[in-house]
Amino acid sequence: MFDTLSERLEGILGRLRGRGRLSAADVDQALREIRAALLEADVHVRVVRSLVDGVRSQLVGEELARSLSPGQQVVRAVHRELIRALGGESLRLTYASPPPTVILLAGLQGSGKTTTAAKLARWFRQQGHQPLLVGADLQRPAAVEQLRILAEQAQVPFFSQPTDPVQVARAGRQEAERLGRDVVIVDTAGRLAIDAELMDEVRRISEAVDPHYTFLVVDAMTGQDAVGTAEAFHATLTLDGLILTKLDGDARGGAALSVKEVVGKPIAFAATGERLADFDLFHPDRMASRILG
Ligand code: GDP
Repeated sequence: MFDTLSERLEGILGRLRGRGRLSAADVDQALREIRAALLEADVHVRVVRSLVDGVRSQLVGEELARSLSPGQQVVRAVHRELIRALGGESLRLTYASPPPTVILLAGLQGSGKTTTAAKLARWFRQQGHQPLLVGADLQRPAAVEQLRILAEQAQVPFFSQPTDPVQVARAGRQEAERLGRDVVIVDTAGRLAIDAELMDEVRRISEAVDPHYTFLVVDAMTGQDAVGTAEAFHATLTLDGLILTKLDGDARGGAALSVKEVVGKPIAFAATGERLADFDLFHPDRMASRILG
């Protein structure tokens, strides 16, 4: 097991206890430790640099708060900087008027996209909305069936038809209007890798349903690879945000820290387990606390 960032910082900062103020050398030493811990956590090197610079500018020349030890002061600066890098605040969704609000989900196969579609539907239902799940992933017949079953578990109606993905998405939106559902979640095909055909299909679906939100589902366990995936999709789709899955397996936050800063899009939601309930808005402050440990 790795040490948490806090433990590592405490290791060196413990020695600073009892001092009145942080010297430049103390700050440098702490920053080296932070840098190493972030790189080990598979945080993108550009993000590491910006985080370390942010912590440095907070610490250098800062009056030492009376109530804090030098170590606590450093941890506080790191915590603030992590929150900033993770996007600051949770996303505030706005709903379309007139309804429905259309949400398009894209992502690679295995990212957890299908499960996420159902989790998201359940989440909206719990917020008092009436979502409709639309299965436009016609690549794998099993995917439609999987979503149908998950929709039942989420107690949300499901729509699909064996035509073509663009047609299903368009008809799904119309079905939502007919049924008076105010949120439509469109699940699209995932592929094992980014390819031109996938990008073209998802782009055509996007043009057909004109989504209010396009979210890319990314597996946090892929660490920095999540950044490459997000950049490739963003080039085609103009993402509004990301949904990070499998955060239960990524305590160090490599993917979470990297995607926001590099892609410049917020992490909208986070999935933290296999159950439909293991899902919520992404809270940068909570994630920052978890990374610090
Ligand atoms: P898709 O191919 O992208 O549609 O992926 P699926 O939704 O079928 O999910 C792939 C696997 O990842 C399944 O076994 C899911 O149960 C699992 N999974 C999805 N989200 C999470 C998560 O947040 N945490 C964990 N531990 N597993 C997840």
